[in-house]
Amino acid sequence: MGKFAELGLNKSILRAIEESGYEEMTPIQSEAIPCILKGEDLIGVAQTGTGKTAAFSLPIIQHLVKGEGKRNPKTARSLILAPTRELAVQIAENVKTYSKYMHFRTTLVYGGASQKSQVKEMAGGVDILIATPGRLLDLENQGHINLGEVEILVLDEADRMLDMGFIRDIQKIVARLPKQRQTILLSATMPKTVEKLANSILKKPTRIEVAPGSTTAEKVEQHVLFVPKERKRALLAHVLKNKEIERVLIFTRTKHGANRVAKNLDQLGISSAAIHGNKSQNARQKALNEFREGEIRALVATDVAARGIDVDGVTHVINFDLPNEPESYVHRIGRTARAGATGISLSFCDHEERPYLRDIEKIIRQQVPLMEDHPFHQEGMELRNNGAGKEAKEPGAAPDAPKRRNNSGKHKPNRRINQPKSHSAKPGSGGQRKGRPTNRRARPASA
Ligand code: AMP
Repeated sequence: MGKFAELGLNKSILRAIEESGYEEMTPIQSEAIPCILKGEDLIGVAQTGTGKTAAFSLPIIQHLVKGEGKRNPKTARSLILAPTRELAVQIAENVKTYSKYMHFRTTLVYGGASQKSQVKEMAGGVDILIATPGRLLDLENQGHINLGEVEILVLDEADRMLDMGFIRDIQKIVARLPKQRQTILLSATMPKTVEKLANSILKKPTRIEVAPGSTTAEKVEQHVLFVPKERKRALLAHVLKNKEIERVLIFTRTKHGANRVAKNLDQLGISSAAIHGNKSQNARQKALNEFREGEIRALVATDVAARGIDVDGVTHVINFDLPNEPESYVHRIGRTARAGATGISLSFCDHEERPYLRDIEKIIRQQVPLMEDHPFHQEGMELRNNGAGKEAKEPGAAPDAPKRRNNSGKHKPNRRINQPKSHSAKPGSGGQRKGRPTNRRARPASA
């Protein structure tokens, strides 16, 4: 993996990168940055956790150096579109970090908050505008934003934007941008809808695919626990007795489900908060900050609310419900094992969710190892993969030991839920951060 210094970036940018503790580029960065610097349009198939934000932010900042300080009222020189407020906030934090030694104005425009301060910030024009599509269009329609001077457009998490119904808004926004521009599209998956959008707005794009569905999945130690639906709460309480589960993201399919789980955790004396679409922006941000600071141990979330959550040191992801879209599984478990760290995921699966598990195993191209070693194990669920065969028992394995299998079919050593394990970062395929362990315990309290 290459070094950032070889990219020919401005000294101030390199200084900021160094201070962030990044030593080497991640795969998406070493492929995408040179391309974007050359002015090419780019499609990047990459998931969160791969370092994709820096992959597009750094060359944009470099590009903007040329006309530093050249801003016209209400305009933006570059525009980054994101599906959710959380992701937009996250991107802005990254961009501000990387451009802290430049004289850039970066601003955020998103819904669910008063437009007043956003309008004020846009009045003088900005270098980098990070926005969710709905509010951006709204402010543009009101005449507060002029999109006619955008030089670079980024669509981040394009698949999720389309899932959330933003296609028309995106088309309208693109129609108002100059035809002569550079366009970058990032997406965790490339369904036909995203392909079609890419074809309509990018010119001769270079395509980079660094994280096919299985890459995140390979870094995460995954387990599935078969359990009847009505015993899931008891199973969660049992699992959380394990103190190794220091910082856990718990996913439910519905908002009500998230509230119920959070309430249940409260009753058990486990500090938690729920985030989902019915919560105000402030409540979501507060919960996220508390989780990030380690003030609460568990964050219960729905898929949409969890987009863009960038919290280091998430030791475990628990799928209280399996997602009905298999791609969401990859997104979910990718919240642990970020940038070089490893993580563990536990998926609770009841009888009705078996088809979801099958779909998941198809896209991650591996079987999720079964963990039977818990008091609520549901018998009779052993037939896996469309009944293609019972999962083979490892020769000589203890009769009730959890079976683990990776995609190469080899068995790894067994581990029980309550068996101690250290989660310190292992050398991964991604960039490593200097002096900043992903293991929360090892981090100073002020970090
Ligand atoms: P992203 O995929 O953009 O959400 O980034 C995931 C995490 O990786 C963020 O916390 C970044 O700060 C971090 N990161 C990005 N690039 C690098 C790098 N080259 N080395 C170490 N960490 C990085």
